[in-house]
Amino acid sequence: MQLSKNKFDVVIIGSGLGGMVCGTILSKEGKRVCIIEKNEQIGGSLQTFKREGVTFDTGVHYIGGLSKENSLYKIFNYLGIMQRLETVRMDEEGFDVVMFKSDAEEYNYLMGYENFERILVTKFPEEKTAIETYCKDMKRICGSIPLYNLREGELEDMEILSTSAKDYFEKLTTNKKLQNVLAGTNLLYAGTEKTPLYVHALVVNSYIESAYKIKNGGDQIVKLMARIIKENGGEILRKHEVKSIDVESGNAKSVTLSTGERIEAELFISNIHPAKTLAMAETDAIRPAYRNRINSLENSISTFVLYLILKPNTYPFRNRNYYYFNEENVWNCTDYKPENFPSMYALFEEVPEKQNEFTEAMTVMTYMRFEEVKKWKDSFNTTLEESNRNQEYQEFKKQKAEKLLDTIAIKFPNIRKCVQSYYTSSPLSYRDYMGTDDGNMYGIVKDFNEPVKTMISVKTKVPNLLLTGQNINLHGVLGVTESALVTCGAIIGKEYLLNKILEANKN
Ligand SMILES: Cc1cc2nc3c(=O)[nH]c(=O)nc-3n(C[C@H](O)[C@H](O)[C@H](O)COP(=O)(O)OP(=O)(O)OC[C@H]3O[C@@H](n4cnc5c(N)ncnc54)[C@H](O)[C@@H]3O)c2cc1C
Repeated sequence: MQLSKNKFDVVIIGSGLGGMVCGTILSKEGKRVCIIEKNEQIGGSLQTFKREGVTFDTGVHYIGGLSKENSLYKIFNYLGIMQRLETVRMDEEGFDVVMFKSDAEEYNYLMGYENFERILVTKFPEEKTAIETYCKDMKRICGSIPLYNLREGELEDMEILSTSAKDYFEKLTTNKKLQNVLAGTNLLYAGTEKTPLYVHALVVNSYIESAYKIKNGGDQIVKLMARIIKENGGEILRKHEVKSIDVESGNAKSVTLSTGERIEAELFISNIHPAKTLAMAETDAIRPAYRNRINSLENSISTFVLYLILKPNTYPFRNRNYYYFNEENVWNCTDYKPENFPSMYALFEEVPEKQNEFTEAMTVMTYMRFEEVKKWKDSFNTTLEESNRNQEYQEFKKQKAEKLLDTIAIKFPNIRKCVQSYYTSSPLSYRDYMGTDDGNMYGIVKDFNEPVKTMISVKTKVPNLLLTGQNINLHGVLGVTESALVTCGAIIGKEYLLNKILEANKN
């Protein structure tokens, strides 16, 4: 590593989206930023990989809210990446399709509330009022969250934090099918009986507003940000792991890397799990009660992913995602029994790399708990430290992949004929690449029963150590980007930052 100097204004631990957004904002403000990433690639869950010439996303398959009038567009535009980001607008007549095993009907999510409402009413004519109420409620909830609308101010309706999503749907209508259809994309937030309604609302609303795929992989987002950070004099160190945050007299002074090298800064932002951050900072300034609280928080479930390479010209690109459920209860899928794997799946078609009406590949995700792969917990495998784990693990993954393919074939009977080859990843892959203990997908579980406990402040008891990323506020590209605004707002002023974003989007 050749650093131009070992002292920076800001050191950011982890180059996930949260770290990169913070780095871009602060470097635009003239701060000298250093981002330290343990992996070969930057981006955390935005990383991609290539097999047989096809690029696969590992953790971002589509993004909501990227139309000109939407908040995420405005933030990305202010950051300076929007003009160069190659996006593909999804099928407006059905960007998401919800399906159930014992129902031949397909339920499409259309873009724009009017269309969304119209098509659902044709499927559930007797539920017109419930569907209208749902759309109004989603808009009202999202409208009441200032940051989501790039406004200053406090949350206007605190009750939304302690409202259960599942209860809401049960009160909205007695029609079980409609309840399940409206919550049918809940893999996007690993929906369970604990999920607060606002989490459902923020995630689903962003896609109904507008749904896009990123061409050539979601890592485009962080690569464009990296360019800006470097242009502004910042540095990004890949393949360097932070081992400790060195706190002296109550303030963070430096981070120590696995090489033993120390990098000093005025300010530190951690983009990694808060429990991991605290474990790296040995100091009395952080009280045991706070450490215990953070350590006791539950993480979301992990995932098993099947990456399919398709034979040329066999599977038409429809520009849609498919969410499939074995049973008509979308809220208990994370509780699947291993013998009933997979309880559900989400199928994402990859955008064809060449202009083509057929897709070359698709990614299929389903839930998998870490305990299923615990047997191999002592193995480690990333591109920096390759290992094949063992034959038994390879067999385990093959069995799961075949079961998943059988389940896909229920709705897509020709799928096996289209598949040229496949690759898989398990909770161990996510654990090793993300640096978590359990490969969780979306960070700390939000629980409507304990809304305050599961919300983490960006500030820690060490005044110059802040947090960012999916564990703060909300996960997902939109959620993490907004979490970064909260983090940077605490440094340069929230009102100042919001004004800058609005200024950048004038005319
Ligand atoms: C399978 C999957 C599918 C998803 N699909 C979508 C989707 O379609 N749309 C969407 O909007 N969102 C999706 N998400 C969610 C979204 O990708 C994440 O919420 C978001 O990318 C998390 O960003 P983050 O800033 O929290 O950082 P993370 O992605 O968690 O990155 C943290 C980074 O810190 C690094 N790190 C950890 N420890 C250290 C250390 N000690 N030293 C240095 N570096 C370290 C890691 O290597 C990693 O690069 C998906 C997530 C998953 C897992």
